[in-house]
Amino acid sequence: MLAFASVPQIMYNIFCIRMGKLSQKGVKTHGESTPGPPGRTENHEKMEAYLDNSATTRVCDRAVQKMVYMMQQAYGNPSSLHRMGLEAELEIRRARESVACALGCAPSALVFTSGGTEANNLALFGAARALAKRGNRIVVSAYEHSSVLAAAARLAEQGFEVVQVPPDENGVIQPAAVLQAADEKTILVSIMQVNNETGTLNDVARIARLVKARCPVGLFHTDLVQGFCKVPLALQNTQIDLATVSGHKIHAPKGVGALYIKKGARILPMLYGGEQQGKLRPGTESAPLICAFGEAAARAWENREPDRIHIERLAARLRERVQDIPGIVLNSPAGALPHIVNLSVPGIRSEILLHFLEQREVYVSSGSACAKGAKSHVLAAMGLSPARIDSALRVSFSEENTLQDVDRFVDGVALGMNTLSRSK
Ligand code: PLP
Repeated sequence: MLAFASVPQIMYNIFCIRMGKLSQKGVKTHGESTPGPPGRTENHEKMEAYLDNSATTRVCDRAVQKMVYMMQQAYGNPSSLHRMGLEAELEIRRARESVACALGCAPSALVFTSGGTEANNLALFGAARALAKRGNRIVVSAYEHSSVLAAAARLAEQGFEVVQVPPDENGVIQPAAVLQAADEKTILVSIMQVNNETGTLNDVARIARLVKARCPVGLFHTDLVQGFCKVPLALQNTQIDLATVSGHKIHAPKGVGALYIKKGARILPMLYGGEQQGKLRPGTESAPLICAFGEAAARAWENREPDRIHIERLAARLRERVQDIPGIVLNSPAGALPHIVNLSVPGIRSEILLHFLEQREVYVSSGSACAKGAKSHVLAAMGLSPARIDSALRVSFSEENTLQDVDRFVDGVALGMNTLSRSK
């Protein structure tokens, strides 16, 4: 009924047809035109088995629609004093409320950034610069994302003493190990919640409580990127001072994230300019990205329970099926979260198997996408053998995956093991 469709709807339809997302014969779909959760319908015609959702996710319809609306209808500058500015500002306020709701914090505690990397950098440099006169030590886990480790390395070059805490053999950061590394002169401790390569979970609320008792001047930061909307955590009930989230891991577009800053925790900005976001992150807010993030966060938060159950089924199927294939070893411990499963096929290098699977339209990664094929510092920190590190694959699920995707991956690996070991 094109004649009655609104302008944004028409724009959106054009956008969808261009992107090949509308359900036409021969066009790949993700099941969104059929009722029920996306990707889980029986009749969807998805071509690929995309199992790299910890690298990034497909943008959900709600986020796309909101983004198009913000770019073409509510496109005023949120700082402008007129009605169009106010409309954009109100939309950003709504997005802030959605992200805050999923984080269990006050909307005013959030600063939107260009993503997880910027939020982590703002946390580390912002805290270090604000507290430099009160202490010199910074404690991080040895398997943080590169945006924490590289920022910490830069701070070390600037004279801060950076101490790395290794995980135990199960990939967990033990609170006692953090307390051993942190002293009363520690100004910042940064421990991630869910490791992005193995899915291991750290009790960051507990670690924060212990750290705050040990380090009176110190701030506690956590990278929540891989656990956001998956692991329930009400930030306002914790002693966590700073927390990072990123949009593109939860079906928002790339290029947007946020840093939570607890009331009273003082950090300095990295950028200087206008009055936006309490001067902590000046510059015209990217209303389309922020509002798409708000929609994606609302969707993920509303669906967290069915999504969790679905992803648990996928992970259980994967773990069960690989058990039957001699030569595959699991690197993610049993207690890891289900959306990330790391495994190795010793004897076949990760990249070889990854490209073999890619030819069959099965997409996984050999570790963190940011590492671009470099050897995993995460698996090395867990003490895994070089043979396991060199052959590691990370499978990461979203709720859009199906049991068939899991089977395609396992069948592909089994075929790869046969074919590639014979051709050696
Ligand atoms: N932190 C973790 C744990 C991540 O997995 C990632 C992305 O892979 C980031 C931070 C960086 O986020 P972004 O890609 O939004 O910069």
